[in-house]
Amino acid sequence: TEAVEESLDRIVELAQLKGEGGPTRLVVTGCLVSRYGDEILKEVPEVDALVPHKDLESVVKAVLGQEQGEGRRAEGAEKQGAGPRAKGGEEPVLNPEFSIRNSESTFPYRVRSHPEHRAYIKIGEGCSNWCAYCLIPSIRGEFASRPAASIVSEMDYLIGQGVREVTLVAQDSGRYGQDLGEDSLPSLLRSLLTVPGDYWLRVLYVHPSRVTDELLEVIASDPRICRYLDVPFQHVSAPVLERMGRGEAPTPIDVVRRVRHAMPDVYLRTTLMTGFPGETEEDFNDLLHFIQLAGIDHLGVFPYSLEEGTPAAGMKDQVPSDVARTRADKLMEEQAGISAQRLSRLVGQELTILAEGFDEKGPFGRHQGQAPEVDGVVRLDEDVEAGTFVQVLITDSDVYDLKGEVIE
Ligand code: SF4
Repeated sequence: TEAVEESLDRIVELAQLKGEGGPTRLVVTGCLVSRYGDEILKEVPEVDALVPHKDLESVVKAVLGQEQGEGRRAEGAEKQGAGPRAKGGEEPVLNPEFSIRNSESTFPYRVRSHPEHRAYIKIGEGCSNWCAYCLIPSIRGEFASRPAASIVSEMDYLIGQGVREVTLVAQDSGRYGQDLGEDSLPSLLRSLLTVPGDYWLRVLYVHPSRVTDELLEVIASDPRICRYLDVPFQHVSAPVLERMGRGEAPTPIDVVRRVRHAMPDVYLRTTLMTGFPGETEEDFNDLLHFIQLAGIDHLGVFPYSLEEGTPAAGMKDQVPSDVARTRADKLMEEQAGISAQRLSRLVGQELTILAEGFDEKGPFGRHQGQAPEVDGVVRLDEDVEAGTFVQVLITDSDVYDLKGEVIE
């Protein structure tokens, strides 16, 4: 698939840098290792060790070159088993039982790779949705929530360290707590809000079937929770959604209406997929119509890419990849107009902006309707220290970004 190729290309790029002032050891981890470990070792001899995603704690040893064994992989190591596959020899299992689920009430030590003022917190691992095109449940297992006490303690630590924006992530954040029996995403948000401080809290990836009234109430109840929802609809045509196995959910436009009714000032992000097996021109036109009708603020579009081992791979009426790509491009063209129009409504308004520092285009920040790294930004007329909240008058807009004057 395209995602696999992109990851392999990146590994090859890093391998080329090895010994040229780049990395001295190359350790590969994540889902890719479980599926394509053998191919990685064959294709990229520079790789020193593979660490399956279930064995996070072993990364440090693998990076330090302290894994057991002399070769890069353990003979007979299970493809999806735990334990890094070090250079030959034995399987260097360090903590095969480690998982999000059994992490204690304190959080594991972490080194943050993002800017000081923002952080992601993982609230669960795996997925139980079994969408027909996706391998994540079979690779990462059923959804397992991380205990709330552990998440709250990490949040408390991060806010104490000066973090100003915390983004909660999981493959299916809305399912949080269902496996624990007592917690839910709304109750987790309430617990997190007990952490004192001036910050933004954001939730990503809420499955359409889990946008509950209670969740909307909690989000609307406190200005520290961003008025922002990322609901990956994937499609809007009922037959396509059914083939995708996207579960029982209200129609996408009903979800959007309910969210906007509860929070008229909400910003919505979604992802859509084009070219799923059997998608007709009419199904595709439904997508075009939907983004217009729903006034989606931020859109990610992915052309379907066949993943061996999924039910979708065996479906009839596969859509040619160039058709899937053309449809994706067409959706994004349409979205450009919608985005420009929605942003233009903000000109003249005063918004709270979290300053991000500056890049090659100058100083910038984000308002709460713009998630880090995936959405647009607000270009600022003056330098503001990263991590500071400032009041900004929005003076101009383009397709994806805004411009503003710092007034406070
Ligand atoms: Fe995969 Fe997302 Fe579906 Fe889970 S909800 S199976 S991660 S596409």
